[in-house]
Amino acid sequence: SVRPALKLPIVVIGAGQAGLSAAYHLKQLGLDPGRDFLVLDADAHPGGAWQHRWSSLTLTTVNRVHDLPGMGFGDFAGDESVRASVAVPHYFAAYEEHFGLNVLRPARVSVVCDRGERLRIESDRGLFSARGIINATGTWEKPYIPPYPGAESFGGIQLHTKDYVSADIFGGKHVLVVGGGISAIQLLDEISQVTRTTWVTRTPPRFREAPFDQEAGRQAVAMVEERVRAGLPPRAVVSVTGLPVTPAIVAMRERGALNRLPMFSEILPAGVRWEDGTRLDVDVILWCTGFQSALDHLAPLQLREPSGGITMTGRLATQVAKDPRVHLVGYGPSASTIGANRAGSAAARELTAFLGLRP
Ligand code: FAD
Repeated sequence: SVRPALKLPIVVIGAGQAGLSAAYHLKQLGLDPGRDFLVLDADAHPGGAWQHRWSSLTLTTVNRVHDLPGMGFGDFAGDESVRASVAVPHYFAAYEEHFGLNVLRPARVSVVCDRGERLRIESDRGLFSARGIINATGTWEKPYIPPYPGAESFGGIQLHTKDYVSADIFGGKHVLVVGGGISAIQLLDEISQVTRTTWVTRTPPRFREAPFDQEAGRQAVAMVEERVRAGLPPRAVVSVTGLPVTPAIVAMRERGALNRLPMFSEILPAGVRWEDGTRLDVDVILWCTGFQSALDHLAPLQLREPSGGITMTGRLATQVAKDPRVHLVGYGPSASTIGANRAGSAAARELTAFLGLRP
């Protein structure tokens, strides 16, 4: 192409917790937002994926939203019953403004290619050329639905956690909730209060009666870190920590909403069928089956191993081993608000050092 690209040392792609943390630390290291680095974000407004989360997800029902570096959430959180989709974007907007991070949005990156000395970043807001990138595009745009035979023949409604708005729309319908994570339980809780539900999971869910054990959390993160350092696809950090038994879960048990069935083997036009031939008619299949990393725009860089994973290196495993100019934050072991914070710091330090951008 002959179109001129805007040249900068570093481009950060994505302005969720991970991208904002990286931007904050780049600035702390003496880089000038807009001149030495630019943050591009596909969303129209601040807030990362939080702005898209269902309205019944409140600050009481989230696990915990960790503060961004340098400015606390406290003043913006308000009441615990406040929607996460309102409070977090409010906080992020104030944060960007306070630190003058100059996020360019909406700006969606479609492709990143290797141009030798530089990386070429194509977006719907023009072309950019950088010596290094910090990718912080999260997982929200990459919902995962496992393949099952007959899925396309289903005559009812299929949707993913990402599409959930509120339980009301399911009134009078039989809803099959698939998945054993925290989102599955929360949505099952809400929907089972207004209509008939059936719950299926691949493996029996592991409930945790004891309060959250920090050591177990650390081990879970370490396990995911070990996987990405070995070039394997990451696993969800929460999949290892178990499901906390909250008062909501106790109430669900009491009203019989937690009677879990194993996974079906086939989808039929009117429902599902198990291996032993048992059938169940349902109107809705709600796939609470998680997300994958939104990295399609990096495909031309050929970062993936044959296993499908990306071999990561660096202090907190944010640096891509095959191309040290590329850092992935909010990926694998850093896919949590606290992990994203730490990853942003490590990536900013290591990338600026690698590119010789620091005095
Ligand atoms: P995101 O917040 O997803 O931000 C990514 C940004 O990148 C978005 O703004 C998006 O517009 C932008 N983007 C994407 N693609 C492109 C592109 N091609 N070009 C330009 N921009 C792009 N973690 C916790 O610690 N506590 C919790 O309680 C918790 N609850 C959760 C509940 C749910 C339902 C889910 C799905 C996750 C939860 N997590 C929680 C995980 C946590 O939200 C994330 O790990 C964390 O917020 C880090 O986000 P991020 O910055 O990686 O991504």
